[in-house]
Amino acid sequence: MSNEFQFSRLQDGQKQRYEKLQDVIGMKRDQGGQGGRETWLFVSPHDDDLVIGAGLWMQAAVQAGVDVQVVVVTDGRMGYCTIEQRETIADIRRAETYESFEILGVGRQQVAYIGYPDGALYDLQGRRRHRAATDNVAPRQGHVGLCNEFVYHLRRTRPARVLVPTIADLHPDHQITNNELMISLFHASGAIWPELGEPLRDVPAVYELAIYCDFPQPPQLELRTGDEPFNKKLAGIAAYRSQLQIAQLVENMREAGPFEYLREMNFRFYSPANHKSAFE
Ligand SMILES: [Zn+2]
Repeated sequence: MSNEFQFSRLQDGQKQRYEKLQDVIGMKRDQGGQGGRETWLFVSPHDDDLVIGAGLWMQAAVQAGVDVQVVVVTDGRMGYCTIEQRETIADIRRAETYESFEILGVGRQQVAYIGYPDGALYDLQGRRRHRAATDNVAPRQGHVGLCNEFVYHLRRTRPARVLVPTIADLHPDHQITNNELMISLFHASGAIWPELGEPLRDVPAVYELAIYCDFPQPPQLELRTGDEPFNKKLAGIAAYRSQLQIAQLVENMREAGPFEYLREMNFRFYSPANHKSAFE
């Protein structure tokens, strides 16, 4: 393939091919200087989800000059495959995570951790005051909860676009992350909780990626790449070598080929006008 990245958009049964990420996604063209540079926030329930679901999109974004920011929600403490690693796995995985993102062109200063316990996000939905006696997660502005953290990170990074795994995955950490992020987009754009940062001017555009289970509705965007980005994605997955099943996953991904998809979310707000005509 002469061009390393080829983009397609599927709309109303029509396929449209694009050479540039800016065009397929509808980014404003940079009119000289930094004015047109977008920030994209990739939100990951677990450290290895993004390279699996969006390792190619992330490389395309870096190449297009997007400021890529990553937030990893959990600390990976449940990801041990040997008893020896039960106490140290979170540190081991953090080193593997930085190595993996580095391969994709994303430096460690672009990767932030919320550090909430892997597999136990159900207890940290919403936002509440920190309880010093029983909470063993770090408070921010005296509060804990995923809404508290997501609003803070959304206001800190001020993204034009947000990418997150779909709500369709079976893992509760994925479902909870998706759900909490969606409501946090609206909190972050409103005036509430001023100690978490300046409200966003606009609600960012949202894109979902599939990790293990298929998209709940078909995606509209495709990226296919040449060998180089694909090999980097595979190397980025292989970096999680503490996961003993990783070689099999790399093989499966290699077989699936250099293709990734995104589903553009369109929030439909309720108004009686949405349904009025059907009853007339
Ligand atoms: Zn995951």
